[in-house]
Amino acid sequence: MIINIMERFKNIGLKLTPQRVAILEYLDGNTSHPSAEDIYRHVKERFPMISFATVYNTLEALRKRGLILELTIDPDRKRYDPNIHPHHHLICLRCKSVVDVNLEFDVPVPDDVRGRFEILGNHIEFYGICEQCKKEGGDDNGSL
Ligand SMILES: [Zn+2]
Ligand SMILES: [Zn+2]
Repeated sequence: MIINIMERFKNIGLKLTPQRVAILEYLDGNTSHPSAEDIYRHVKERFPMISFATVYNTLEALRKRGLILELTIDPDRKRYDPNIHPHHHLICLRCKSVVDVNLEFDVPVPDDVRGRFEILGNHIEFYGICEQCKKEGGDDNGSL
């Protein structure tokens, strides 16, 4: 379930400028895990004068307030996730697509780990080749 990001935004005290609305609208329910560059490209179509810094600063403000998550699964670019509920990810090594996995996994944790660490959650990343990339073929199995 994705809570409307606009609703969440109202409570954080940032001014809702038209540019920020455009960023929020793009993120709302977006499951593509876009990078700041992706979001910038999209918003620029409607607001040609918008700067990358504005987009990036807005994303950071949202992230700091817990309205979006930052994913570090792509070493080249930060990716953002408006789905802040615990979930896991399928990551394609070829096209870098990131897909949500909304399942709960019972991850076995050894007792000695439990003894010294209070576990509050987990995040599982499945690496591989997505269906689309598999169709397009190629012999290599993806490279990091
Ligand atoms: Zn792929
Ligand atoms: Zn996600």
